[in-house]
Amino acid sequence: MNKTVLVTGASRGIGHAIATAYAKKGYSIVICGRNQKTLEGAANEIRSLGADCLAVTCDVGKYDEVERLFAQASERFGAIDVLVNNAGISHIGLLQDMSIEEWNNIVNTNLSSVFSCCKLAMPDMIRRGSGSIINISSVWGVSGASCEVAYSATKGGINAFTKALAKELAPSGINVNAIACGVIDTEMNRCFSEEEIQNIIEEIPAGRMGSPDEVAALALSISEGSSYLTGQVIVLDGGYI
Ligand code: NDP
Repeated sequence: MNKTVLVTGASRGIGHAIATAYAKKGYSIVICGRNQKTLEGAANEIRSLGADCLAVTCDVGKYDEVERLFAQASERFGAIDVLVNNAGISHIGLLQDMSIEEWNNIVNTNLSSVFSCCKLAMPDMIRRGSGSIINISSVWGVSGASCEVAYSATKGGINAFTKALAKELAPSGINVNAIACGVIDTEMNRCFSEEEIQNIIEEIPAGRMGSPDEVAALALSISEGSSYLTGQVIVLDGGYI
């Protein structure tokens, strides 16, 4: 039986690169995203690699939709071996200008989604005594960013969640780790002008943005590498912070 990975927010960017990397390793793939058309496009690319891929349109910020995602995944592939909580949104602006609706939306999308997916993946992992959970976080969850207070709070929450859940699940043979990304070249950063991106790059010792494939390579090495690695927030940022 192939192993199965579930990657949230995998219609583009980092999530898509992660799903592709696991597909090349022979995993069965479950992906989700809100936009059905882009999700199906991503699923077809993954299938063209020879992998079995289930694509479920789902808003991870809504618990009932995440329940539906896991029910469909379980029906198709059985238990999930690797869960990658990747789906996320950013919000740029002063905190004083943020509405409660915007706050709730980013907290639900970035943080409550991690609770929902872990809660639904964990029972099978505990029963089987194995599993790997990888949460895609951000350097802003470590250091905090001006004009990204809510985003930083959700990612800081993910980092603490990762460390705490790792302690809870280590006795069951399940690893929980996070990748705290620096600036990765995806659509999430298209809100910045070319000049702003150049200014950011000047601050990065590696002299460039990271690529989604570099995040994917790290995710794969976490889940396939040492089973003694758990509770870690691994910073992948070209020396940025
Ligand atoms: P993109 O905006 O390129 O992709 C985000 C993906 O998540 C899309 O597939 C999107 O699909 C999906 N998504 C967004 N909201 C939801 C939702 N509510 N339910 C289901 N799927 C959703 O972003 P990145 O690839 O750059 O980001 C991926 C992760 O990496 C995020 O958690 C982000 O915070 C983190 N990260 C990114 C950094 C960067 O510089 N790019 C830096 C640090 C961390 P759709 O819109 O169709 O739902």
